[in-house]
Amino acid sequence: MKIGRHKGTGRYLIREARRAAKNAYCPYSRFAVGAAILSSDGRVFSGANVENSSYGLTVCAERSAIVAAVSAGAREFLAIAVVGGGRQTSILPCGACLQFLSEFCGAKMPVFLAPLRGGAGRMTVLGKLLPSAFMFKKKGVVET
Ligand SMILES: [Zn+2]
Repeated sequence: MKIGRHKGTGRYLIREARRAAKNAYCPYSRFAVGAAILSSDGRVFSGANVENSSYGLTVCAERSAIVAAVSAGAREFLAIAVVGGGRQTSILPCGACLQFLSEFCGAKMPVFLAPLRGGAGRMTVLGKLLPSAFMFKKKGVVET
């Protein structure tokens, strides 16, 4: 899918995701990934992958960005960009991140995917990447 009418948003988020990828902590894979997500109130939250000696504890860039956003009070999102991979090829979010995104984002939310360096990227939507997300019925948000 082409970026089309979301071109400006996509370019901006891809730029922010690339900036975030510079902070990736990836001494084991050397595979830096960055993500930037736009909340409905206009804020942009970014994240990078953070690896761990115990590999299973590694946190992807997408989840880093969402955790930062939700921790800051954001609950609704309009778009996300994910950058990684080589010069010409972009990457796709992993299954865990797609499920994590589905908790807060609708199936039609634009997902911009671009190489770590260079390239305009492409757009798809969350529902295309994860058409059947697991969902509990929400019982309400706990107010503190
Ligand atoms: Zn992931």
